[in-house]
Amino acid sequence: IDGTAEEGIHAFLHLNEAEAMAVAEQVDAIRASGGPEADELHPLAGVPIAIKDNIVTIGQPTTAASKILEGWMPPYDATVIRTIRAAKLPILGKTNLDEFAMGSTTEYSAYGVTRNPWDLHRAPGGSGGGSAAAVGAFMAPLALGSDTGGSIREPAAFTGTVGAKPTYGSVSRYGLIAMASSLDQIGPVARTTADAAALHELIAGHDPKDSTSLHTQWDTLLEATKRHDLSGLRIGVLQELQGPGFTDGIWEKFQETLDMLRKAGADVTTVECPHMPYALHAYYLIVPSEVSSNLARFDGVRYGKRVVPEGGGTVAEVMAATRAAGFGDEAKRRIILGTFALSAGYVDAYYGTAQRIRTLVIKDLHDAFEHVDVMVSPTTPTVAVRLGDQLENPLTMYLNDVVTIPANLAGIPAISIPAGTAEHGMPVGLHIQGPAKSDARIYRVAAAIE
Ligand code: GLN
Repeated sequence: IDGTAEEGIHAFLHLNEAEAMAVAEQVDAIRASGGPEADELHPLAGVPIAIKDNIVTIGQPTTAASKILEGWMPPYDATVIRTIRAAKLPILGKTNLDEFAMGSTTEYSAYGVTRNPWDLHRAPGGSGGGSAAAVGAFMAPLALGSDTGGSIREPAAFTGTVGAKPTYGSVSRYGLIAMASSLDQIGPVARTTADAAALHELIAGHDPKDSTSLHTQWDTLLEATKRHDLSGLRIGVLQELQGPGFTDGIWEKFQETLDMLRKAGADVTTVECPHMPYALHAYYLIVPSEVSSNLARFDGVRYGKRVVPEGGGTVAEVMAATRAAGFGDEAKRRIILGTFALSAGYVDAYYGTAQRIRTLVIKDLHDAFEHVDVMVSPTTPTVAVRLGDQLENPLTMYLNDVVTIPANLAGIPAISIPAGTAEHGMPVGLHIQGPAKSDARIYRVAAAIE
């Protein structure tokens, strides 16, 4: 790790340099031996990787950037970590995030902000700002993130990196600290589409420990990045996502990309998904509901921090004191919202309605993919925001996710790739999404555009 860069950026919550070095030296020794073991090395063996700190790792603290997990050492590895260790990728350390992956700027971390390597006064996006900043600043060639509503793709767009959210069920969630289980998916952050595809291919596959894991074979992802042909590809642009919502020169940049796609022989048309304007609202009811349930386990008894009121207290008092001290503002806000949305008398009006909208959004996307192979748009409405700008008003922060959320609601794959720079010289992302299980297709299209 470049210590000077990291001092200014603060991408990492924990560095694991000694162990990473040992793995790298082991790989070097195997390669030098030239024996059969060398032939069996995974192509990514020896390539360092940074891990978002909501993915559990033996031997390294895992905090999800929350005080409530301060000092917690997981007794097991996430399935993706086992895979990465088996393939001998040195794990550089654990990266910063918004607490429990809730946020769009990494400012909701309990352990300080991460800064955008392109402009230290700006956010790297969130929640996976640490992973994106580490890759964007050349501190790590690869990183893992988690994406519930855009937390891999929005930071990728803000830092000029590639970030993909796999089809739901493609990558095991076992050992990912749950935020909203019906949306969470681990995915790759990298400097190029081919690197992202190689990492995705490594971590994808069935895992009996995740009940939503698919049995699909995903061994074509890297191969897909080698074919660079866009002719005849049917590309859809969403009617509902046109124009004025995008600022900072992002829409103009996107038009340039569309022109380029047309020149390359793609067939660009407008598609309609009439329920899309409600997706964000549905998301911000479904997510807090699942969050309020998932975060109930942090009770001061089972994991991490325990706060005992002075002079002792009942179990309920210990739980309340622990949660009051351990959770930050955004976590508390979502727990309260979610508990309300799920409470008797309101559950049908809020959670039920949101689920019905989710079904309509899924149907809209399904219908639209009858006419197009992929859909493209800018990844974010703005370039990376200045630190502090959105802290006062979470509602403006929630709007950052308008493009990325539908893919999580529908479980479909999506990727953000760098698409030049816009105002303030900041990078912008191009968002590409396809139907469920079309992961190889979005890598192919992304690689051709890149
Ligand atoms: N910004 C979104 C949220 O706060 C996305 C979170 C995520 O993908 N983990 O919910």
